[in-house]
Amino acid sequence: MAKKNQIDELRASVNALKSDSKKSKSNNKQGKKQPKAAEIPAKSKNAKAAKQNKPQTNLNSKAGKKVKRAQPVKSGEIKLNQNKPQRKSKADVPAQAKRKKQGGQKKSPATPLRIAFLGGINEVGKNMTLYEYKDDIIIVDCGLAFPEPDMFGVDMVIPDFTYVEKNIDRVRGIIITHGHEDHIGGLAYLLKSCKIPVYATRLTVGLIQGKLREHNLLSSSELNEVRPGDTIRLGGFSVEMIHVNHSIPDAIGLAVTCGAGTVVQTGDFKIDSTPIDGGMIDIARFAQIGNNGVLALLSDSTNAERPGFTESERKVGESFEILFRRAGKNRIIAFSRL
Ligand SMILES: [Zn+2]
Repeated sequence: MAKKNQIDELRASVNALKSDSKKSKSNNKQGKKQPKAAEIPAKSKNAKAAKQNKPQTNLNSKAGKKVKRAQPVKSGEIKLNQNKPQRKSKADVPAQAKRKKQGGQKKSPATPLRIAFLGGINEVGKNMTLYEYKDDIIIVDCGLAFPEPDMFGVDMVIPDFTYVEKNIDRVRGIIITHGHEDHIGGLAYLLKSCKIPVYATRLTVGLIQGKLREHNLLSSSELNEVRPGDTIRLGGFSVEMIHVNHSIPDAIGLAVTCGAGTVVQTGDFKIDSTPIDGGMIDIARFAQIGNNGVLALLSDSTNAERPGFTESERKVGESFEILFRRAGKNRIIAFSRL
């Protein structure tokens, strides 16, 4: 009985809420869906319109591979500004409103750093990040993703480059953090339409060269070799390369600095205290940069929710030795390139 009473009470309160919301909507002729549409920022409306006008582009490479250009990520953009800290709690709101009411002269806001993701968020693959400050844009990574099971006839998926193509005059360079497919696999398709200088470490440059040769782009592309510890200047940005460990050698993380402050992007990394080559991740440098203050840390998150730690790459080699010995002459070797 007690339960029945509770249910009745709940029903009564739901009905009360319903009638309240009806009242508030009585002036709204468009009905239920209107508020939802109003919530969509103008930008995504445009993106939606663009989507309708422009069907998905299929770029077919010489190798006959079918490539699908992904749709832009809807909400993959953040704005950062050190001089104007983000509102932390509702308690800040009245204080700000007060200042406005007092009629104090509005300070012109400092230029924010905008970071947009054309891929690599909520997915494994097609990593591509844009940093935009004043008139300058730099790009980090340009990867591909492998098709979902329902993408019949599609061999690979690449980010939607439309925004880069439209703003090519402002793009100062692209930095590649390491040579895995989900970080370099889309580069040839981008360089086909956009001439952008590329910066990467030695092994990564080598792997990119192979890809560009395949697409007949090697001679027309600008590849620059960088080393961990180097800092390069790209328009209003300076980008420092920081050595990290990963399952591929020569991987780097980045400290991206502009007038608004510094953002650290780790790239894919692991903390390997016994790496096969290249030395351990430069934790000390990350700590120094952290002490100086950063706007944001963009960190690799694969397996971040799994407890424990990843074994050293050295362990992988030891396991291979054991497996090969056990298998004798019978071996089938498969590679993962992520
Ligand atoms: Zn990787």
